[in-house]
Amino acid sequence: MDKKVLIADQINEKGIDELSGIAEVVSNFTITKEELLDVIKDFDAIIVRSRTKVTREVIEASPKLKIIARAGVGVDNVDVQAATERGVMVINAPESTSITVAEHTMGLMLALSRKIAIADSSVKQGKWEKSRFMGIELNGKTLGVIGMGRIGSQVVTRSKAFGMSTIVYDPYITKKTALELGVTVVDLETLIKKSDVMTIHVPLTNETKHLISKEQFEMMKENAFIINCARGGIINEDDLFEALSTNKIRGAGLDVFENEPPKDSPLLGLDNIVLTPHIAASTSEAQRDAAIIVANEIKKVFKGQSPKNVINMPVLDTETLSIIKPYFELIEKIGRFMIQTAKGNINELNITYCGELSEFPKNDILTRMILQEVLNPILNEPVNLVNATSVAENRGIIVTEGKRCDAKGFKSLIKVEMKSDENDVSLEGIFAQKPKIVMINGYPVDVEPEGTMLICKYKDKPGTIGAIGTKIGEHGINIAKMQVGRKELGGEAVMVLKVDQHVPKILISDIKKLEDVHDAVAVNL
Ligand code: NAD
Repeated sequence: MDKKVLIADQINEKGIDELSGIAEVVSNFTITKEELLDVIKDFDAIIVRSRTKVTREVIEASPKLKIIARAGVGVDNVDVQAATERGVMVINAPESTSITVAEHTMGLMLALSRKIAIADSSVKQGKWEKSRFMGIELNGKTLGVIGMGRIGSQVVTRSKAFGMSTIVYDPYITKKTALELGVTVVDLETLIKKSDVMTIHVPLTNETKHLISKEQFEMMKENAFIINCARGGIINEDDLFEALSTNKIRGAGLDVFENEPPKDSPLLGLDNIVLTPHIAASTSEAQRDAAIIVANEIKKVFKGQSPKNVINMPVLDTETLSIIKPYFELIEKIGRFMIQTAKGNINELNITYCGELSEFPKNDILTRMILQEVLNPILNEPVNLVNATSVAENRGIIVTEGKRCDAKGFKSLIKVEMKSDENDVSLEGIFAQKPKIVMINGYPVDVEPEGTMLICKYKDKPGTIGAIGTKIGEHGINIAKMQVGRKELGGEAVMVLKVDQHVPKILISDIKKLEDVHDAVAVNL
């Protein structure tokens, strides 16, 4: 066996068994930093949990290393940047904890509906307060699931066995996925108003920070429960305290907190809350599965197959890099533009490479790059050049790549169309010393995609541009550049403005209210 794997932290035996026969396995669960630096040069792969730190120093001392495997989810103990720079794959096992976290969610649901935790502590105090602990059934209740990814879908499956009906809010799942899972997708407000139990399974992002705050608690049913086994910060804890202490809602179950541990939090003194110390993912089965999953990923790499849980990007060879590098910025900007203007679930992404780029065999990397830009803001797992295509595929997004010789007089041109449930967006871009957008939704423009941009669709008629400009001025926003594009005189036109300040939502809605304005959207590039 010419491959060597170092297991530096205690993992489940089953994972170790998977590797025997394909590699020489060395287990040293107490290895020190110095010992690791000394021996790592002989290994092709290393498996860690959270004890061993795979630092830049370790990575740079390991010329043979191809894989760093984290038998779990978070990779905080691995210098992913250093690994990427050295072309070392970092793999993990994000699916290993999904069932475990879903079961914990069900546990909190039952603890709340039957007051199990508080009844337990009462009995242990020698009391027998039967009438104090009247509960409610989950059967027949409506469960609202926010975030229908790996964990959310496992919760849905389990809730069906409890006789609950399920509604889901996840603006990024496709209709096909929803249909397959047999769930009704609704908007957030509907979910909040209709749910008897609400459970959160989204990543913590700018969009989801304090997703559930005072306004949302006001909308909840009086008897509703809320559960968060995702990340602290998605629920505003001050507002949750107010909702619970005034009995605005019936109860809450939390595994995660804005500050962990939640020392001195007023939530700790409430009766109608069940708390666990961020243990939703902690089971021996999750640890076993994590070990088996990463061992199988390592096996795949050793056999020359593609692993699916790679979280960093491969190193490109110099020739490939020199040809496509100029288009990186253009494609990133197109991706960012697209995701900020898309409405509803993304179903399809069609990319056409025109002109010289159409002859280049490795355009796939650009396609992956645009997927990375489009998917990263909406997913918990990091999406990168290695996993972008499979993540899109798993989410039911159809991705097509086309090639065309004609680049409309440019050396190369990239056309991207994104189709979602509620709108289609199409952009065409070129690289001429700088990235440029030359077409937006079929309207010819000549725009450098940078900073904050405001895009308005309107009827090409005297006075409309002025009215939009006046509105922008009323909000104290300065226009740095302006471009208009139209297909025909008096028809529909598009205006692209580069502005110097942040565009508030109220300005967008004010512009939309103007006569002859059909749509307005702001993007930050
Ligand atoms: P996932 O990436 O599979 O799913 C996340 C889902 O959230 C996706 O379907 C995505 O479309 C959706 N989403 C993203 N932004 C959204 C928004 N603004 N509104 C509604 N939906 C949105 O992730 P997962 O593996 O299911 O993990 C879900 C959460 O659970 C993450 O926050 C993760 O960190 C957390 N987690 C917690 C523990 C724990 O110990 N408590 C363990 C594992 C995971």
